[in-house]
Amino acid sequence: MTKTTDIPYKIYLTEDEMPRSWYNVRADMPEKHDPMLNPATLEPATREELEKVFCSAVVEQELNQTDRYIEIPDGIRNFYKMYRPSPLVRAYCLEKALGTPAEIYYKFEGNNTSGSHKLNSAAAQAYYAKQEGLTSLTTETGAGQWGTALSMACAFFGLDLTVFMVKVSSEQKPHRREVMRTYGAKVIPSPSDTTECGRAILKAHPGTGGSLGCAISEAVEVAVSTPGCRYGLGSVLDHVLLHQSIIGCESKIALDKYGVHPDMIIGCAGGGSNLGGLISPFMGEKLRGERDYRFIAVEPVSCPSLTRGKYLYDFGDTGKITPLMKMYTLGCDFIPSANHAGGLRYHGMSAVISKLYHDGFIEARSVEQTSVFKAAEAFARTEGILPAPESSHAIRVAIDEALKCKETGEKKVILFGLTGTGYFDMTAYKKFNDGEMSDYVPTDEEIEKSVAQLEPYNK
Ligand SMILES: *Cc1c(COP(=O)(O)O)cnc(C)c1O
Repeated sequence: MTKTTDIPYKIYLTEDEMPRSWYNVRADMPEKHDPMLNPATLEPATREELEKVFCSAVVEQELNQTDRYIEIPDGIRNFYKMYRPSPLVRAYCLEKALGTPAEIYYKFEGNNTSGSHKLNSAAAQAYYAKQEGLTSLTTETGAGQWGTALSMACAFFGLDLTVFMVKVSSEQKPHRREVMRTYGAKVIPSPSDTTECGRAILKAHPGTGGSLGCAISEAVEVAVSTPGCRYGLGSVLDHVLLHQSIIGCESKIALDKYGVHPDMIIGCAGGGSNLGGLISPFMGEKLRGERDYRFIAVEPVSCPSLTRGKYLYDFGDTGKITPLMKMYTLGCDFIPSANHAGGLRYHGMSAVISKLYHDGFIEARSVEQTSVFKAAEAFARTEGILPAPESSHAIRVAIDEALKCKETGEKKVILFGLTGTGYFDMTAYKKFNDGEMSDYVPTDEEIEKSVAQLEPYNK
């Protein structure tokens, strides 16, 4: 069979073709994942408990495992129209450079100022908060993509936003901080002396550069203690994955127009929301027995939650204040080494992705960051887009699979998620260009030690 070559470089959809509903993959899962638990009682977390932290519409979606389609309100759809539908690109130039018989497609989510897919959920979370009469949101940000996305959404819908930014990141990425401030967010380096848990952490660890887990604890404390304020999370939870299904739904509409069916779908996995969003409608077909696909989650060797973690109940944060979630995890005390893909440095994995992986519907692979940056360089030089280090994990595996096709002569169709651009990651690119990038692989002992701490919650 020869390659399909009558497909445009970019498949654009019209605004009218943009999906009107998100797709809720849980509705088609033969077995649902285990519920979130209250760590004090080990009983399922209740709606009331969750509504102290998140706005009601979001809690409703979090707990909805049965409705296959959930309508996207016009207010959110109109916001999406500013940067969506996003293009689905046929990587003709990369295919040519690799000399592969494979067809490669990618869905590009970096075409907005925040530079990543995270705006898809930020828009929804800010919209619902405004609808419910709330006045402000809080959140944390590590590398800065989520904080930027939520700043943009809060500016648009008229909400105040406080972002706790991991202190080392706010020092290393002052430009990210200024983007957030330009959109009106208040950015506080974390740990800070503005919260009780921040002060406790500063007292215990003077001079610490902070961590995501610590910033989450500060943001949640402010949300539950401030009237009219709730907390927003950028990945991991089921409602975030639901919002991100717009990525997969658009991809499917675009490919269906040309009768293209991917053999494999590849995405990087940090908390799992972009991968979950990309694969959702395709996974639905697989779960319903309509069509088969291979799904591949790609994670860094330095933070291998799926490939080396354990399937256990764990906290979402280091401060141990969130509900417990059943997920593949390295343990909430696991501190990943300073990998340059900040968005993939999370100890756990979305409960939906974890369950699908556990039940054999998804494969997982871990890759070293030096090989990831080689793939990023090859991609930038052929396709023109400067990819985010996180996204480049998916590029690595897409290229590897395309090269396998070159050996076997198979004409596979590969789709991967290009989650964002890498303009704020030039320190990482500099390390790579200077030949100073290294690969840290955690030992079994390190992982076992932090996972062992979870025993009391998994009796
Ligand atoms: C946050 C981020 C990721 C990780 O996304 P998850 O949905 O948490 O897996 C990947 N790529 C980019 C560019 C990001 O900003």
